[in-house]
Amino acid sequence: MLYTSTRNRDLRINSAKAIVSGISKDGGLFVPEKLPYISLANLELLSNMNYIERASFILSKFLTDFTDNDILECVNKAYSKEKFSSDDIAPIVKLDDSKFVLELWHGPTCAFKDMALQLLPHLLTTSMKKEAGLKNVKILVATSGDTGKAALEGFKNVNGTSILVFYPENGVSDMQKLQMVTQDGKNVDVCSIKGNFDDAQSGVKKIFTDKELCDQLNENGVLLSSANSINWGRLVPQIVYYFSAYCDMLKNGHLSDGELVNIVVPTGNFGNILAAYYAKKMGLPVKKFICASNSNNVLTDFINTGRYDKNRKFYSTISPSMDILISSNLERLLFHLYNENDEKICNLYGELVNQGSFEVCEEVKMKLQDEFYGEFCDDIHTKKTIKSVFDKYKYLIDPHTAVAFNVYDKYVMDSKDNTKTIIASTASPYKFVKDVLDSIGEFADGNIFEQLGELSKITRTEIPKPISNLNNKNVRFNKVIFKDEMRSYLLNNTVCETI
Ligand SMILES: *Cc1c(COP(=O)(O)O)cnc(C)c1O
Repeated sequence: MLYTSTRNRDLRINSAKAIVSGISKDGGLFVPEKLPYISLANLELLSNMNYIERASFILSKFLTDFTDNDILECVNKAYSKEKFSSDDIAPIVKLDDSKFVLELWHGPTCAFKDMALQLLPHLLTTSMKKEAGLKNVKILVATSGDTGKAALEGFKNVNGTSILVFYPENGVSDMQKLQMVTQDGKNVDVCSIKGNFDDAQSGVKKIFTDKELCDQLNENGVLLSSANSINWGRLVPQIVYYFSAYCDMLKNGHLSDGELVNIVVPTGNFGNILAAYYAKKMGLPVKKFICASNSNNVLTDFINTGRYDKNRKFYSTISPSMDILISSNLERLLFHLYNENDEKICNLYGELVNQGSFEVCEEVKMKLQDEFYGEFCDDIHTKKTIKSVFDKYKYLIDPHTAVAFNVYDKYVMDSKDNTKTIIASTASPYKFVKDVLDSIGEFADGNIFEQLGELSKITRTEIPKPISNLNNKNVRFNKVIFKDEMRSYLLNNTVCETI
């Protein structure tokens, strides 16, 4: 299996190279040249396997330059009992005859990014061994919250790696900050900057394009890498759980062979929903994808009008991991909808850079609307949805998942389609304890640990261990620097040694 670029179809590289490079030199994203096919008989076979076996099966179709043993080792390290609170890894919960929730937050940081970021470090270090000369990788992350913590947990104590995370001093939630500053591990470092998320991100981008710095690191056998969500190594682990969810439903008798399902995903950078789309292209029986956005509804408008326009107001919402105006992974979908026309993608993304918008042709718009339904939900309705879902099912959801539930209801009202539906649940409600308490009509007073206790008591649900354990942890990282000090910080810090 080889990979090509969305902006240069002549390119052909193997998966190790795609994972080590992250992004193509032409600015495009790596996509598989041809998708593997998973038959209904395969699905039946997968149904009798556990998550690790299912993951190995799917990954082996994509990472053909990895040995079976390579893959098994990576997957075993990622989805271990110590790291995931559910033996099923990504369990499916039936709420009623049509709603099935796919819980993607049983990993060490209680958000769905763990599903990919627990595996990526192992895929990356294995890929580096295949790409001669690269011994160590330094991961640099600018984060507005979830990604930083998930990357820290993924890379902590992984041989041949070190990780440095920059976050805006006043731009992450109390819980997110607490999760990061108490991070353990020998090869990790966390530093806050005086500025906002854009400052942190621009600073990191500047370092990546600093040729002198990169050369200097390369000479010492160190590769600078980003682990961000456009890396193929982050997308491929996400395909697995859609197959796994379907297989669980087959096994439990909720689906008959080949029965179609809908999939709802609360969407930001379009990675999670794109993985579901790939699963369908590989043979998973899916009818409709429901793309749920918050008030940053650039994707809703795109699906409904065919015009992508990032020139709009940016909202800071209670579902912050979806506060995005440029959904990077959309480029991969467009490449496929345009029948892999790389020239077309270059033109569209040129327009996005120059004028902040582009419009797809009528034919592509029809294809898009055939597969995707798009709607959005603001903060007030997000909160109402948390309450109504809890009242109706005694099932507690976080604000991101609530956006998905809300938009799904709109879809059912619009379409009258009662097909069984998988709703991706992307974070534990305890990660957003204050807004969740507020939504169910409780006053969120006291400190964060008192709030956690309160939520647990009222809803009779359990606080995830990684969150309750934060209470016993010491703050390890309290450095604050100016945004123009990021480069020198990277060069001079000795806390974070590669192991
Ligand atoms: C990152 C994130 C999302 C958005 O996922 P994308 O792959 O960027 O579309 C949704 N919910 C949570 C909790 C997240 O952390």
